[in-house]
Amino acid sequence: MQASSLAVRWAALSDVGLQRVRNEDAFLVEPGLSYAVVADGMGGHNAGDVAARIVIDTIGEVLRQRLPEYGVDARASALRAAVLAANDAVRAAAARDRGLTGMGATVVVANPCADGLIFASVGDSRLYRLRAGRLDQLTHDHTMLQELVDGGMISPEQARRVPFRGMLTRALGVEDEVLVDVGRTDLQPGDLLLMCSDGLTDMVDADELASLLAAPGDVQACAATLVASANAEGGRDNITVVLAAVTDDRSPNAGG
Ligand code: CA
Repeated sequence: MQASSLAVRWAALSDVGLQRVRNEDAFLVEPGLSYAVVADGMGGHNAGDVAARIVIDTIGEVLRQRLPEYGVDARASALRAAVLAANDAVRAAAARDRGLTGMGATVVVANPCADGLIFASVGDSRLYRLRAGRLDQLTHDHTMLQELVDGGMISPEQARRVPFRGMLTRALGVEDEVLVDVGRTDLQPGDLLLMCSDGLTDMVDADELASLLAAPGDVQACAATLVASANAEGGRDNITVVLAAVTDDRSPNAGG
């Protein structure tokens, strides 16, 4: 069967939250190449800011050159290369400026196309897919808490009740070599993708996320609702959300 043509409507919003002075999250959405990036920076002074910005800029540079390539394999290797380049760029910037020593960032990149969704991640920024009311987390958290779950030390149910996921086990900028998770899955008209920083998922649980995402309305309004919900729960961290609504490109709202 010929792959049907899909259209994607994007929306994005980043908010400082209620308790932080600076927003050290960053995002990039390029509808023309159908990809988006969310990065969550960390480090003293303004280093987290700088790290997240370097990650976004570097990934944008690489993907603008490489994403016109066709085929899921080529796109998967483009995303991996872009994230590896971002790690190198953060390391190089920190080596040049002692004030930036120790900076790092998490990242999630998603590239939805008619022949499938490609995604890459390092850290605990997440990608979810809502399909027919069911919310699936497509990325794997690189955190101590997730390692406890993976090792069978605690159940996923117990993990959901832990308010903080603890230290990251992987992030960009920490070491010269970084392991990048790259995944792929199918897409269907009606799917809704959510990319976000932990400032959303630490405040709003998965059941609540699913019901907010499933509510009717346009994606930009939905992004605003997600951010408002995280702030209503305390807004302890910066909150960034990127939404991608997948539609059949014959639908009247496509491309809007
Ligand atoms: Ca964060």
